[in-house]
Amino acid sequence: MVENTNISFDIPDGLLDEIQQNIENIIRDFDIPEENKLEVIKQINYIYTRTKYLSITDELTGLSNRRYFESCFEKEFLRAQRYNNKLTLVIFDIDYFKRVNDTYGHQCGDFVLKQVANAALQTFRKTDMVFRFGGEEFVVILTETDIEQSKIPLERFRKTVETLALNYEDKRVDVTVSIGACQFCNEIKTKEDFLQKADNALYAAKNSGRNRTVFCENEI
Ligand code: GH3
Ligand code: MG
Ligand code: MG
Repeated sequence: MVENTNISFDIPDGLLDEIQQNIENIIRDFDIPEENKLEVIKQINYIYTRTKYLSITDELTGLSNRRYFESCFEKEFLRAQRYNNKLTLVIFDIDYFKRVNDTYGHQCGDFVLKQVANAALQTFRKTDMVFRFGGEEFVVILTETDIEQSKIPLERFRKTVETLALNYEDKRVDVTVSIGACQFCNEIKTKEDFLQKADNALYAAKNSGRNRTVFCENEI
């Protein structure tokens, strides 16, 4: 579905891509000088690809954004429900991030967000998906991974952030993250419940001292 207030109907998934893939045939019948057609096709392809990329990307960190998370999460959740695939959902949040902004300025805060996002990209596997959920909060979808298997990469990530030793305009900035993780099980009936459980685990990580990971207790 395309989210656009000017469009009053649901465009089926994949339809726009299909039209895009046929752009050469469509342009062929247009009243444009023959020698300009290739350039027009290139322009349309560029705009389409760029717009698509921008619509799913967080501008600051370059990570996938929340909109893209919603669609990926839905697919992975349904896959786990249907085929019993292992799936772990992770939420992490930078600790006392407001202090970073207050002490060193908002631009330094932005710098820290980019570095932490980078650390996440470096740490997790290519098949895992890292998203900026909003503000200083991120989610990771660990596919084909159960809680036990998530422990090593999550601890590695927590340690990586803790030891980043960031420098911003000659100032040393240290940050940590709190992490909540939850493995999918059949008792989790909706993706909203799943997200809520991971969020509860994050909340517990915050409340028990920060800079730590809490794993959601499922009866699996
Ligand atoms: P906690 O350990 O409980 O998570 O504390 P916190 O200070 O990290 O959390 P809080 O919710 O109090 O503050 C989050 C801050 O993140 C406040 C907000 O201004 C800042 N923030 C959100 N988005 C951005 C951004 O894009 N850039 C910068 N620089 N700051 C941001
Ligand atoms: Mg925070
Ligand atoms: Mg937060």
